[in-house]
Amino acid sequence: MAANTNNRIPVKWVRDRAKAAYDKKDSCYICGTSQELELHHTHSITLLLNAWSLRKGYDISTDAGILAVRDDFITDYHQEIYKDVYTLCRSHHIKLHGIYGKAPSLASAVKQNNWIEIQKSKSTNTGTASVRGNFGRFY
Ligand SMILES: [Zn+2]
Ligand SMILES: [Zn+2]
Repeated sequence: MAANTNNRIPVKWVRDRAKAAYDKKDSCYICGTSQELELHHTHSITLLLNAWSLRKGYDISTDAGILAVRDDFITDYHQEIYKDVYTLCRSHHIKLHGIYGKAPSLASAVKQNNWIEIQKSKSTNTGTASVRGNFGRFY
């Protein structure tokens, strides 16, 4: 193998590996549309990866460096990578990142969950997800 340089952003290697197992739903969690769906992680994978590699003392600045440890990272953060995710339509996804930033701070995960739940309840109340019937109005 030739000497490797950092051709790619390290987190892209992690995404490549993890995405095959993502549990992407067929409708937006908030509004129920099936158009332009994207997956949102409430814990920024980039921030998790950076903090983790620093703590472990791993050098992920080269392709070889990240490839050597990415499976360990995915194992350590299975919950955040596969469970703490929402399927959102593009417009709700953009809205969320407009509020919490491109890479939301890890401390904002709970706030993001709350925001998503609030948008979902609003969406149900205005009837855009009318297939749910009237039950959405009651606690
Ligand atoms: Zn939506
Ligand atoms: Zn997102």
